[in-house]
Amino acid sequence: MTLLELEDVTAAYGRVQVLEGVSLSVPDGGAVGILGANGAGKTTTLRAISGTVRVGGRITFDGTDITKLGPEKVAALGIAHVPEGRGTLPNLTVRENLMVGAYLRRDAAQVRSDIDYLLELFPNLKERIGSNASALSGGEQQMLAVSRAFMAKPRLLVLDEPSLGLAPSTAKNVYDAIQRLRVESGIAMLVVEQNANLAFRIVDSAVVLETGRSVLSGSSAELRGRDEIRKAYLGG
Ligand code: ATP
Repeated sequence: MTLLELEDVTAAYGRVQVLEGVSLSVPDGGAVGILGANGAGKTTTLRAISGTVRVGGRITFDGTDITKLGPEKVAALGIAHVPEGRGTLPNLTVRENLMVGAYLRRDAAQVRSDIDYLLELFPNLKERIGSNASALSGGEQQMLAVSRAFMAKPRLLVLDEPSLGLAPSTAKNVYDAIQRLRVESGIAMLVVEQNANLAFRIVDSAVVLETGRSVLSGSSAELRGRDEIRKAYLGG
């Protein structure tokens, strides 16, 4: 079943048209990557989904037309967005950040057990549970940002370049942790990544954006085998 579908989506900042026609779909429980060079429109595509930029075309989530919905409504329907640059609350502890992620939930017992579940999955966070987010390493902060989004119990996690600013080995660890979360929870993911090698660690399929258009899509295996993808996004 298709969970999220973008059909010929357009978006502009003021008069500057940035998306010219982006189409993609995320199956329920699937993981899809958005690849593309700097400025191709990857972040804007995520903003279009989250309702923070005005869009044309059509976006549906779980059968509901969300094209014109604002960010609160989109979040309430079950889409959680981890923005570029992470967005943890630096002066709150790890536990408090996780609680903030769950602020709309009323199932207190389940919230506690979800926190326990995440801490088992990510022992680094467990060790730092009482530390302020600002005291965590870059990789730990990224894991906290993902975990905090997960605490909203979304049906779809939207991740904007989780590797940004991380050393290569740390980025790999973060991706392995995201993959564990995905396998364990079955949650659907849409992941923007400039480093296709990292994205292919977790996504089943991907779409390539060029100057605001989706120009190519396919399974990870298919895309990895294509010369133009290898040259442009996989380091030759
Ligand atoms: P990057 O990897 O650099 O973030 P991206 O593929 O995510 O690139 P976007 O951030 O979506 O690309 O940007 C697409 C285009 O829109 C770029 O030309 C960018 O300069 C422009 N842009 C992004 N945000 C704004 C904004 N708030 N106002 C005006 N133009 C913007």
